[in-house]
Amino acid sequence: MLENGTRGNELDSWDRDHFFHPSTHMAQHARGETPNRIITGAEGVYIVDREGRRSLDAFGGLYCVNVGYGRKKITDAIAEQASKLAYYHAYASHGSEPSIRLARMVIERAPAGMSRVFFGLSGSDANETNIKLVWYINNVLGRPEKKKIISRWRGYHGSGVMTGSLTGLAGFHNMFDLPRAPILHTEAPYYFRRTDRSMSEEAFSQHCADRLEEMIQAEGPDTIAAFIGEPVLGTGGIVPPPAGYWPKIQAVLKKHDILLIADEVVTGFGRLGSMFGSDHYGIKPDLITIAKGLTSAYAPLSGVIVSDKVWRILEQGSDEYGPIGHGWTYSSHPLCTAAGVANLELVDELDLVTNARETGAYFNEALKEALGGHRFVGEVRGEGLLAAVELVRDRDDRTFFETTEKVGPRVAAALLERGVIARAMPQGDILGFAPPLCLTREEADIVVDATRGAVEAVSAAIG
Ligand code: PMP
Repeated sequence: MLENGTRGNELDSWDRDHFFHPSTHMAQHARGETPNRIITGAEGVYIVDREGRRSLDAFGGLYCVNVGYGRKKITDAIAEQASKLAYYHAYASHGSEPSIRLARMVIERAPAGMSRVFFGLSGSDANETNIKLVWYINNVLGRPEKKKIISRWRGYHGSGVMTGSLTGLAGFHNMFDLPRAPILHTEAPYYFRRTDRSMSEEAFSQHCADRLEEMIQAEGPDTIAAFIGEPVLGTGGIVPPPAGYWPKIQAVLKKHDILLIADEVVTGFGRLGSMFGSDHYGIKPDLITIAKGLTSAYAPLSGVIVSDKVWRILEQGSDEYGPIGHGWTYSSHPLCTAAGVANLELVDELDLVTNARETGAYFNEALKEALGGHRFVGEVRGEGLLAAVELVRDRDDRTFFETTEKVGPRVAAALLERGVIARAMPQGDILGFAPPLCLTREEADIVVDATRGAVEAVSAAIG
């Protein structure tokens, strides 16, 4: 049974008066001009709010609830761990049983050549760890000038000071004096938005690799430490890479001895229909960022997976300089790692990676069939259970709507009225889908039908 909590208007006014929400129009929320939504329960792929409205969550929270809601196996594991040992730190060689078990499970599932896992709490702090490791490594190797990190426009890597700088979206920079040095951004592999429309996918991938090479040459190869990218661009628009992109990028990085950080916060643990996006696209990273699917968000946990090659340099560093001066109080918090162990077991037991691949293919095909020919749909794209519908003013000329028309948010709102949650991605009129990996074909059909209805309703209003 789904819980339907009712607390009356007191909770609503406390929410308006005291709760500072992330990514929210602060003034409108405080004045009560925008609807708030207080979620009280969830089961499977559905969430329910205190008014009893049920929605099919086709974005899995923030693409994190991979095993779906209400999994007793995970909540029991957390409760059991809490009663045994709710907390102890992991500094100076301390540990807890679930943390060690989870490290082992992650390495067993990780791409070849990976060696150790450092646990944090959020994707952002894991990428902070990555930046510090990259700098540390080059200090150990005696090349203190090799410190710049190249990210991509439209990449998303967090919202801290340095990770917000890695992020390549204006909305996360403006008013915060970001991005900071030494972070640079190169072209996004966004084939649909290429300027030269005569380019093939391969040619466009070559163009992206050439732009990267030009930036490295202009800055000086001896100053570039690392490149960071999501296997599939996520928050920047849900954009799978064009054919040949990753091999061409990796060839450039190898030539200049530049480390590769694969940010798999979204793609790790099955989202694309492979355990890792790196395996999916033949990426050979030095460092991998993980979070979301590691616990399916039953508890906050992230990690940095370190390759053998990087680990050897870190060992050398500690032999020369002593213990690493990096760690969080809650690194490998036992409640979170206990959730992680149960979650990864569940991913295997339910064969969710296969379901992401198979139901994902079905879902992507159905979305294309339903919307691919619509006059306001420029592209339907996706991989596994990650998909996007990009809305355009004119599909032949490929012109876009004005931001002020808010077409993406309007379609997302129309979809919500039809009982389905998709995400209006922050830059462009792009509707994003990342449902729990346990999605069934029947549930996929519900999402597709509702999306068709929402797009048609907004189209009719646009005229
Ligand atoms: N990297 C990627 C690819 C992400 O999608 C996100 C979050 N959406 C982050 C990092 C940051 O994670 P968090 O919000 O947990 O800090």
